[in-house]
Amino acid sequence: VCPTGALSERSYIDEVWNEIEDPKKHVVVQTAPAVRVAIAEEFGYEPGTISTGKLVGALRALGFDAVFDTNFAADLTIMEEGTEFIHRLKNGGFMPMLTSCCPGWVKFLEHQFPGLTQMPSTAKSPQQMFGAIAKTYYAKKVNKDPKEELKVVSIMPCLAKKYEAGRPEINSSEEYQDVDYSLTTRELAKMIKEAGLNFDNIPEEEYDSPLGESTGAADIFGRTGGVAEAALRTAYEVLTGETLEEVEFKDLHGYEGTRFAEVEINGKPIKIAVAFGLGNVRKLLDDICKKKIELHLIEVMACPGGCVGGGGQPYHHGDLSIIKKRAEALNNVDRNKKVRKSHENESIKTLYKEFLGEPGSEKAHHLLHTHYVKREWM
Ligand code: SF4
Repeated sequence: VCPTGALSERSYIDEVWNEIEDPKKHVVVQTAPAVRVAIAEEFGYEPGTISTGKLVGALRALGFDAVFDTNFAADLTIMEEGTEFIHRLKNGGFMPMLTSCCPGWVKFLEHQFPGLTQMPSTAKSPQQMFGAIAKTYYAKKVNKDPKEELKVVSIMPCLAKKYEAGRPEINSSEEYQDVDYSLTTRELAKMIKEAGLNFDNIPEEEYDSPLGESTGAADIFGRTGGVAEAALRTAYEVLTGETLEEVEFKDLHGYEGTRFAEVEINGKPIKIAVAFGLGNVRKLLDDICKKKIELHLIEVMACPGGCVGGGGQPYHHGDLSIIKKRAEALNNVDRNKKVRKSHENESIKTLYKEFLGEPGSEKAHHLLHTHYVKREWM
C-alpha cells in the first residue's frame, strides 16, 4: 500500500521501550488524526470506532511522560501553509501549490517530477512540526536537553513517516532528530498487547497541555480532501475578513481518486484539486506540465482515502468500505468540536505570541519549513 515507506519499514518498538524505561529520559508521544479512528480495530472493534480517550489512556499506561496530539501541529501546519498559499496568491508565486504533509507523495515527486520541486508548500508535515516545537519550545518549558534527555515518539498511520523523520532536510538541528522514533498504528497495538493492557478496560483520558489542543480542522487532515478544506477554512477568513459560517466544503468531500472544486474568494475563483493514489497524481501532474489544466491548490495523499487508508494502519486489504468508515468517523470528530478553524486554536495563538512571532516569521521558517531535493530514480 505504501509506495516508498515499504522500502524502509523497520520497527522501533524495542528502542521505544528502552527509552520509556530509562529514568533519565523524558519521553513524549504524539498521535496522528487517523490513528484514533482505526486502532480499536486491532482489538476487535468495528472500523470507524472513535477511541481518542482510550488511545491517550493507553499511552499514559505504557509509561510516556506526556501524551500530545499531532492535531496541534496540524493546526500549526495550516497557519504556515495557509500563510504561504496566501503569499503565493497575492505575489504571483509558483502555482499550483501542492500540499506537502505526505512523505510518500513528496518522495515520489522528488524522483519522478524533479522539475517541480519548487511547487509543494515548504511547510513541514504535522509530524515534523510537532517534533521541531517539542525539541525547542516544549524542551525549554520542561527544562530538558533536546539531544540527551527529551525523546519524541510518533504514532502514525504511515510507513513513510519513518523515512521522513530521518530526512536531513527536514530536521531543524544537526545534533538530533526532531522525531526520534515513528511507530505505526499496528506497532502501537502490539505494544499495548505486549504490556498486557486490556483495551476494553482502558480509561478514557485527555491529552496533555500545551501541545494537545486542536480544532476540528486538524482532525480532517486524516482523510482525503481534509488538508485542502482545513486550509480553506483559514485562508477564506484571512483573505475576506469575514466569518465563514459553513465550514464544510462539500465539493472537497468524496472518495473519487481525483476531484476538482472551485471556491470564490473576494470575487476570484480559487481552483482546487484533491488526489490520492500515485497513479492519479501522476496523471494530474502530467496535465499540469502540458498546461491542460490550471489550478491554485492541489492536495495530494499517496494512500487510498488519505491517511485513514495508510500502510501502517490495521490492514484494510484495499476495502474502501473500511476506509470510508474511518474517514466518516473523523468527520464526526470534527463536527463535534467547538472550534473548527485552525487559526482559532488558543494554544497555537500562545505559541506564536510566546515563541514564533508571526506565521512565516524567520523563526517559523527555520523550525517549520523545509526544502525538497531533485533525486535520481533508484
Ligand atoms: Fe503516509 Fe498518509 Fe501519505 Fe499514506 S497518505 S503515505 S499514510 S502520509
